[in-house]
Amino acid sequence: MGRINRSLSKLGNTVSNKTQSFAHRASDRNIRLAVTGLSGSGKTAFITGLVNQLLNAGLTGKSNNLPLWQVTRDERLYGVKRTLQPDLTVASFDYDLGMNALKQAVPQWPASTRNISELRLTLKYQPSRGILAKLTDSASLYLDIIDYPGEWLLDLPMLKQNYGHWSMAQALRKPIFTKSQYYPAFVGALDSLDLASNADESELKHIAELYQQVLVDSVHEHGFYYAQPGRLLLPGEFAGSPVLAFFPLLNISEDIRADLEHTQANSAYQVLKTRYKEYQDKVIRPFYKDYFSTFDRQLLLVDCFTPLNRGKEQFDDMTQALNGIMESFKFGQSNLLKRLFSPRVDKLLFAASKVDHVTRDQQGNVLSLLTQLIKQSQRQAKFEGCEVETMAISAIKATQHGMIRSSKGEIEVVKGVSLTERKPITLFPGEVPKSLPGTNFWASQGFEFTSFAPPNYVPQSDGADFEHIRLDHLLQFLLGDKLK
Ligand code: GDP
Repeated sequence: MGRINRSLSKLGNTVSNKTQSFAHRASDRNIRLAVTGLSGSGKTAFITGLVNQLLNAGLTGKSNNLPLWQVTRDERLYGVKRTLQPDLTVASFDYDLGMNALKQAVPQWPASTRNISELRLTLKYQPSRGILAKLTDSASLYLDIIDYPGEWLLDLPMLKQNYGHWSMAQALRKPIFTKSQYYPAFVGALDSLDLASNADESELKHIAELYQQVLVDSVHEHGFYYAQPGRLLLPGEFAGSPVLAFFPLLNISEDIRADLEHTQANSAYQVLKTRYKEYQDKVIRPFYKDYFSTFDRQLLLVDCFTPLNRGKEQFDDMTQALNGIMESFKFGQSNLLKRLFSPRVDKLLFAASKVDHVTRDQQGNVLSLLTQLIKQSQRQAKFEGCEVETMAISAIKATQHGMIRSSKGEIEVVKGVSLTERKPITLFPGEVPKSLPGTNFWASQGFEFTSFAPPNYVPQSDGADFEHIRLDHLLQFLLGDKLK
């Protein structure tokens, strides 16, 4: 507590009031931390858990739940408050709704991210270094946390493709599409569409809805990840608008496409081409320009367990989707994004989420699996000018560690309450592969991942309401340098 008690009087007479107020103004800084990940990766749970930790951190709480975060270890964090977000046109992240779900008698996980939202916190702290430490006893850091679906980043490659190229790329996904019960209706309608005749608005809308059903079904029912355009899965503010009423032409040869290029401007083919271009101009580009390019730091959450449970095809699809997402973070000079939108992210954290699902001895494996996934994508291009880190975390720890005796001796287990049956369970979920799983892993399928219910809510008089795994380490990487 010693350092924080330094009073303003220590500044002595050398510093005038004027200089002090200048220092206060100069010390008010802002950082925009974006949180993304594919659907179900844990974004809403993460932000709710993190905000709860932050609001209860600092000298207002008696116990320090974030010991690896330097500013709390040094006892220099006075406290954290919610403040009105600066951009009133973006939806607010509904922290209270999330907390209310977690606080119920039968606690529920907060509802998943479906759109972009943000929330601002003010962190009041004691600067320890530099001119600020000499001039003032307290400084503020405004932290904007922005939540957005990772699926939207899967649209980036569409900026490099025209409608024809994009259709060909989607045709390669037919083996996945065909698994959906909605696929026959979609291809049926597609095959009967006369692309050279005048466009019929309701017909295009109907086929686009069928394509959307195929995408949603392949993600929600069959456990795949890649969906393009991303807004058909999570439309955000574009729900129901004609800019989303397009679909890939899966069964058309190059020759036929070349002929269709000569059709009149209002043919179904030309209208679809125009819609695709509108999607590039009115949906993809504005997202990168208005939001993405304003982010300072980026966290990408990855749920490694669900695809391990689902199987090889789904795991490979997640790998492909992650590679697609990472395209947005390769800021090399030759990168399309760099040329178009000058992104400024200087720290990028890949975090394997929900590691409370596995025993402690498996958490290292989760980290090396994630590192392998990223390395594979890094091979093609580097995340230039950006400090990159990987971690394994849990924002809201729903399990406890335990040991049980077995024929092999003592083994580590996790204990929690199952999400569906709400019954206490003790289990060893299995070995997480250290590297990208090979044939042996899929042949033995030795992994059993169970969804756990959130912990029972017990209000704490001092400190946060939940336990976590490594959120302090995460905060040190993402914010440590801004709180010196
Ligand atoms: P989003 O779609 O990225 O917003 O993902 P959510 O935040 O909705 O998380 C999806 C699900 O993952 C939740 O409903 C929980 O079942 C689970 N989950 C998320 N974070 C944690 C965690 O830290 N621990 C555990 N045990 N489960 C989590």
